[in-house]
Amino acid sequence: MFNPRYARLFDEVRIGPKTAPNRFFQTPHASGMGWRAPKASAALRGIKAEGGWGVVSTEYCSIHPSSDDFPFGYLSLWDEDDVRALARIADAIHEHGSLAAVELWHGGFHANNRLTREPLLSPSGQRAHFIQPMAARAMDKADIAEFRAWQSEAAARARRAGFDIVYVYAGHDYLPLQFLSRRTNRRLDEYGGSIENRTRLISQMIEDTRDAVKGDCAVALRLAVDELHGPRGITHDGEARDIVATLAELPDLWDVNVAGALGNDSRSARFSDEGFQESYVAFVKKLTTKPVVGVGRFTSPDMMLSQLRRGILDFIGAARPSIADPFLPLKIREGREDEIRECIGCNICRAANNEAVPIRCTQNPTMGEEWRRGWHPEQIAPGRSDKSVLVVGAGPAGLECALALGRRGHQVALAEAGRELGGRVLFEARLPGLQSWIRVRDWRQHMIGKLANISVYRESPMTAGDIADFGADHVVLATGGSWRRDGIGGAGEEPLALADDEMIFTPDDLDRLPVKPASIVIYDDDHYAVGSALAEMLRARGHRVTYATPLPVVSSWTQMTDEQGFIQARLMTMDVGLVLSHRLMGVAGGKPQFACIHTGRPLELSCDALLLVTGRVPQDALYHALAGLMPDGAVSRIGDCLAPSHIADAVFSGHRFAREFGEDRTAVPRRERPEP
Ligand code: ADP
Ligand code: SF4
Repeated sequence: MFNPRYARLFDEVRIGPKTAPNRFFQTPHASGMGWRAPKASAALRGIKAEGGWGVVSTEYCSIHPSSDDFPFGYLSLWDEDDVRALARIADAIHEHGSLAAVELWHGGFHANNRLTREPLLSPSGQRAHFIQPMAARAMDKADIAEFRAWQSEAAARARRAGFDIVYVYAGHDYLPLQFLSRRTNRRLDEYGGSIENRTRLISQMIEDTRDAVKGDCAVALRLAVDELHGPRGITHDGEARDIVATLAELPDLWDVNVAGALGNDSRSARFSDEGFQESYVAFVKKLTTKPVVGVGRFTSPDMMLSQLRRGILDFIGAARPSIADPFLPLKIREGREDEIRECIGCNICRAANNEAVPIRCTQNPTMGEEWRRGWHPEQIAPGRSDKSVLVVGAGPAGLECALALGRRGHQVALAEAGRELGGRVLFEARLPGLQSWIRVRDWRQHMIGKLANISVYRESPMTAGDIADFGADHVVLATGGSWRRDGIGGAGEEPLALADDEMIFTPDDLDRLPVKPASIVIYDDDHYAVGSALAEMLRARGHRVTYATPLPVVSSWTQMTDEQGFIQARLMTMDVGLVLSHRLMGVAGGKPQFACIHTGRPLELSCDALLLVTGRVPQDALYHALAGLMPDGAVSRIGDCLAPSHIADAVFSGHRFAREFGEDRTAVPRRERPEP
């Protein structure tokens, strides 16, 4: 039953000429799809609207070929073909009565332009962002006039495509923010210097956009109110106040966040709590009468309510919470708050964008698959048979598989060796900053508890004989993986002769590690979260910790989850010793032996314990032991038991098995291709 306490979340709110049906606002977020996949994008955004988000926004949408982010997934509104493609998205959103917003984008010197090969543009002749060895031209007055025309033309196209809200996007280090910030604007003309001058382009863009949409669309301003660069940039307690005061009533809606890099805004749970942006954006509402939307990985309805009550925000903005649970608003509306699948803040969704691939999510295995595989987050077809299934192992894969099979109506038994369900996340959630990862277990355990056709057996280590005797029609092995002890990892291709077993540990041995202060070397050839989180944990326990890796930075793959810089800073701040670009060659005389990956120069370290975080192997002994004991084709493997990977892949694997059980397995995911 709907809890009237939350009624305020469902107020209608006016945004310029439009009315949002409630206060749930899916702020723009990358989907990794962009203009290459308009049908998949439309399906993704349509599902958000169906799930009750009153406003649903697109990802960044380029206004002109001089802002191209290929191969990353961005949209474009360059011509009438784009209008037709984006109309699909707006229509899919409107089908469910929500407002459609488009985030018009120009990247300035943060664009790539590798597809269009247009010269980059910038306020003051910056060098291209990051490592590209090219310069961005300083815009002259004619360039600025042209740029304003591009924004106007794209806004007019957005109106023709049917959007209700059109953005002026001055966030995340893109061109309008580059004009706003002293860090990047060194102009001496009327667009540089004073705040009035630096805001000039943005106020012109708002006015141009408003003229272009002819009163049919609201105009939103997305502004980074703190670049987190200290006094060199815009700060929430410094220039941002003057900027907001200057532009206060100009836009119809303020969408405020922190920047400059995206990693600051969509900060992972390891480096931020729910609602972490509040102290940065709280001042905005005091300076404008226009509605304000902000984000903060909100998943708790009480936290949302508190933001409204205390006058921090008018709209609850969400990217990740809407990815993890596109039906979050509807669940609150229907009094099913307990069913909200809460984002864990792992940023695997961000990784998809950084890898230039379609979005995926740890918690929501249907994310990105709405069109490609026709998966709906809340609906699943009834099973085609009444086969019973025994799932062995209650980690992420087993839990998800059991739940989805149960939702299809199968009789399911879930057997777990341990007392607690959760598998690997029980371990991962013990690591510093990763506590919220336990939500992967919690949500599934809770939902399984609601289904009478799923029986859970704890403390039930199953042998091949037990499984065969159990009598299920089908067996799914979700027995996970274990950490390797032979040194094989990302860079280590061959097993190492590790003579001194006593001193060698893996993350599976966490409870055996020395308790008294000791000297521990962690060798990370896995490059995701576990190696650095263990370093942090052991250092906090008072050990002397050295973190060694064959790559040039700590936790290299976390560049994809926008965490790498934060992680490296944390280890350095904690005085964890770093040995970078060194490969483990073996252990001699109780001392780990390394070699520089560039020169081969040897390096010997002394320590009491060597903790190998390198790779994992499937725990699939049961699969082989069951050969001949079960009918052909009646045993399947999922998750880490099939191929160890991150949690998102294990959840996906479990979900996919359940969806495809008894169905035509030859179905391939759909891809969007140009007309033949
Ligand atoms: P995944 O990520 O693929 O879900 P996990 O390693 O998280 O894999 O989970 C595997 C789970 O399987 C663990 O909780 C483990 O205790 C359980 N398990 C492993 N072998 C057996 C077995 N023979 N019988 C019952 N449970 C098992
Ligand atoms: Fe949240 Fe992780 Fe899903 Fe992203 S991938 S929405 S951070 S659970």
